[in-house]
Amino acid sequence: MRFDTLAVHAGQPPDPAYGAVMTPIYQTSTFAQKRVGEAEYDYARTANPTRTALQQCVAALEGGKHGLAFASGMAAIDTVLRLLRPGDHILASNDVYGGTYRIFKRVYAIYGIHASFVEMGDLDNVRAALQPNTRLVWVETPTNPLLKIADIAALAELVRSHAARPWLVVDNTFASPYLQQPLLLGADIVVHSATKYLGGHSDVVNGVIVLNDDALHAQLKFLQNAVGAVPGPFDCFLVLRGIKTLPLRMERHSANAQRIAEWLAAHPAVSRVFYPGLPDHPGHATARRQMRAFGGMVSFVVKGGAAVARQVVERTRLFTLAESLGGVESLIEVPAAMTHASVADSPLAVDPALIRLSVGIEDVDDLIDDLAQALAIAPTA
Ligand SMILES: *Cc1c(COP(=O)(O)O)cnc(C)c1O
Repeated sequence: MRFDTLAVHAGQPPDPAYGAVMTPIYQTSTFAQKRVGEAEYDYARTANPTRTALQQCVAALEGGKHGLAFASGMAAIDTVLRLLRPGDHILASNDVYGGTYRIFKRVYAIYGIHASFVEMGDLDNVRAALQPNTRLVWVETPTNPLLKIADIAALAELVRSHAARPWLVVDNTFASPYLQQPLLLGADIVVHSATKYLGGHSDVVNGVIVLNDDALHAQLKFLQNAVGAVPGPFDCFLVLRGIKTLPLRMERHSANAQRIAEWLAAHPAVSRVFYPGLPDHPGHATARRQMRAFGGMVSFVVKGGAAVARQVVERTRLFTLAESLGGVESLIEVPAAMTHASVADSPLAVDPALIRLSVGIEDVDDLIDDLAQALAIAPTA
């Protein structure tokens, strides 16, 4: 079946109990056993039918064999990191998600697992930074908040030919499987914050891992149960419902973001725009090759510095001043003071005059009108 059909149906046949067309929310902690040890489900940390549906659905959308769902994107990421041992090394994008940077630096470093950061768009850089003990190469594309692009297929080839044979992990949160399918490009593991585009309505926190390897899946499934950072069934239901409209939403997010990026690029109060759909973006050609469209995230720098950036984000009426992204409603923020405050004094620190938009699915002319009135106070020189 094709993507849009999978989004509606994968993992979700009518319920075997009563034929419910929508996947029931199995709000139970335990399941009756026919005989001792004889049951499809026994305890809901180990498995729950609503969660199974979500896991199978996201796996199908990523073109992968196995899915595992978690209480948050960070819980999914944490579970992947538990595959490592003291002395192992992680090589990551140099503008990786702030929470991912924090878990590397402040949680896993204590256990002797160290991360270093490179520009993933430059393959020679990556090759030079790989170490004999590198176990994970951790990639985001597009990145947050600068929307840098890495070539997933080229990285997969590089990693495969390296003596250490690390696993290539792609955090596919920003693109969603509708725009980009890293496993099909050679990645080993995909992680998601399903809180964002998969859920799509800013009403749930959830995470997913997808992969093909059976042995690695068995290890991660063991960890999912042994560590226990599992999502509740209602959260799984919300993500499943969100996913049904993922293709429609991603088309609109991308079309709106493209229009807004072009409009911002021509605005006299804006000094730079970061959007992979703009032809002068350094990752444009790669993005064209590996993505179906360019997504809903746009960042830009205003003239006048940090103080002006703060004024602009506080003046929008339709764009809500908030962290997070990927919902149907448009959001605006200043990464340096908000989402990226945790990397303020690190190499990942961002320009304090940078503004990030999560472009929603509203009428794009209303969104542009709102940005125009908010930017009216910014200097044009
Ligand atoms: C939000 C986010 C995460 C963390 O996910 P949570 O659901 O907030 O735990 C990880 N990676 C990226 C790219 C994100 O945007």
